Amino acid sequence: MRFENTADYALRLDQEDPLRHYREEFHFPQVKGKDVIYFTGNSLGLQPKSAQRFVDDIMKDWRELAVEGHFYAEKPWWDYHERLAPALARIVGARIREVSVMNTLTVNLHLLMVSFYRPHGKRYKILCEEKAFPSDQYMLQSQLKFHGYDPGEALIEVRKRPGEHHWRTEDILQAIESHRGELALVLMGGVNYYNGQVLDMAAITKAGKAAGAMVGWDLAHAAGNVHLALHDWEVDFASWCSYKYMNSGPGNASGIFVHEKHQADPDIPRFEGWWGTKRETRFLMQPRFDPIESADAWQVSNPPVLALAPYLASLELFEQAGMDALIAKRDRIVAYLEFVLGEVDRQVESTFEIITPPGARGCQLSVFLHGEGRPLFDYLMQNGVITDWREPNVIRLAPAPFYCSYTDMYRFGEILKQGILERTGA
Ligand SMILES: *Cc1c(COP(=O)(O)O)cnc(C)c1O
Repeated sequence: MRFENTADYALRLDQEDPLRHYREEFHFPQVKGKDVIYFTGNSLGLQPKSAQRFVDDIMKDWRELAVEGHFYAEKPWWDYHERLAPALARIVGARIREVSVMNTLTVNLHLLMVSFYRPHGKRYKILCEEKAFPSDQYMLQSQLKFHGYDPGEALIEVRKRPGEHHWRTEDILQAIESHRGELALVLMGGVNYYNGQVLDMAAITKAGKAAGAMVGWDLAHAAGNVHLALHDWEVDFASWCSYKYMNSGPGNASGIFVHEKHQADPDIPRFEGWWGTKRETRFLMQPRFDPIESADAWQVSNPPVLALAPYLASLELFEQAGMDALIAKRDRIVAYLEFVLGEVDRQVESTFEIITPPGARGCQLSVFLHGEGRPLFDYLMQNGVITDWREPNVIRLAPAPFYCSYTDMYRFGEILKQGILERTGA
């Protein structure tokens, strides 16, 4: 496909975009009286306009029904979380009984490691990617220490090759192979937060299982962004936050996946609470834990219903649009963004380097701005482009297909060009 870097051409792409109306379903921040160009849906998704109504409904039921809302609200609270499962299952490629919502991401990974990190004998090591998201590093290190291991020895971090900005699948598979027999767990980020790389989750899961390890995925940057087939890939467990591509609101509840095959195991270790016990007997307040035969068995407490409300609002939009359509637009808008960057690069003789590897991209392009610094980033922000900056000089651009337009990409290119020209005095 040949693109053009003109306003007319971008508008034509917008007119052909079957998802263009979804832009109207979200609130945009304003800079200088105009909607911003929002590139940080990978960090905090925009607010769906319907979210307010979903929250208001809970507030109203609480006001008018108080405790009776648990059973008599229009959407009763005691099983409110179950309303989210069908959409989540479709988004992550799972059976409905394999997903649940609870807590927040890092907390959930810790809880899932109670079940799926079970070191014994020589098999105690954990494999992850180097420079994993800091929370994941702290989590893995503290889990290892909790079990009496030295993270320096027991945590295997797969490196990128010198001079390269991405991981090679063959290197990851090789690392798994060379530690086979010692690996208790492979736990990685499905989409890397820094370079935007989508790892080959199917191949890595297969290799991890073949090496006798459990395999889990942190899907913070993957859920709602890339194709996932957790059930078919035979992933053991996974978790994701909902406030990035899933647009559920700051710090909001996380989702989990536990493969069906683990749910029948009566001896699986797990930290338990009353919301994981069978719904039929939950309110009999019996002393014995009787697990729900679904991922809900991992729920500990009764869920924060007020928080689930905007998450449910957002999932309705995912159900309407469908992941296939979102992914199709994502690929096209990311390709157009890459084209626009290339045009700007040529016109101002700058040197952008896209470090997100072709063939392993989701919604995000991470761009090294050689010779450009923080002032350019500040210029973008002041001119209505919301992006983020990672040291040393990488900007991450994630044009979320739900609400970003091709015209946004064109306008971004013009602002970027102007910013570079103004500061180089050309
Ligand atoms: C965003 C992100 C997190 C955030 O964790 P919380 O527990 O939700 O604060 C964790 N891991 C990765 C890979 C992330 O991208």
